[in-house]
Amino acid sequence: MQKEAGSMKIGVLSLQGGVIEHLKHIQALGHEAIEVKRAEELKGLDGIILPGGESTTIGKLLRDTKIIEPLRNRILEGMPTWGTCAGMILLANNLENWNERYLQTIDITVRRNAYGSQIDSFETKVIIPEVSQHEIPLVFIRAPFITHLGKDVKSLCELDGNVVAARQGKILVTSFHPELADNLEFHRYFLKICEN
Ligand code: GLN
Repeated sequence: MQKEAGSMKIGVLSLQGGVIEHLKHIQALGHEAIEVKRAEELKGLDGIILPGGESTTIGKLLRDTKIIEPLRNRILEGMPTWGTCAGMILLANNLENWNERYLQTIDITVRRNAYGSQIDSFETKVIIPEVSQHEIPLVFIRAPFITHLGKDVKSLCELDGNVVAARQGKILVTSFHPELADNLEFHRYFLKICEN
């Protein structure tokens, strides 16, 4: 498909989880958003989003569909990539409380379900200077957080001393779900990474 001038083509990994909301946010910012289920669909993407959902399910499907290796290679070659919640778990080099590992493309250690079952989900608002000068709503659902950052990884946001957003080069990870908020700032920030 021919792209409009200035418009980028952003993929959303669509094996399971919160796909539609990411597609809508990207489209609202004037770019093409496509569902990605197979390796062929990685072609020509300017960036990809790994959505929230259930990381064990998405991880299994990554293997079953054999997209895991081609996707990992594209990320290592520099394709801008953003993992939200389960997506962050899939991208992490290490998981503190889970034996499996998935794409292992960002030097962080992540604790799954870090807020415990008592606090299943919550919302807050913060200013993340790197992303926007305005407060951004953050939605957490059975969220992980980062317990260790490698030396090339920059923390973008901490909440009660825990890192909930980070970036290593063109790889972005967030514990929370900007696609579930009525706010486009975080998607705009990711698109800026995709432009460069
Ligand atoms: N707790 C989920 C997991 O471990 C992630 C939750 C989410 O993506 N909202 O995969």
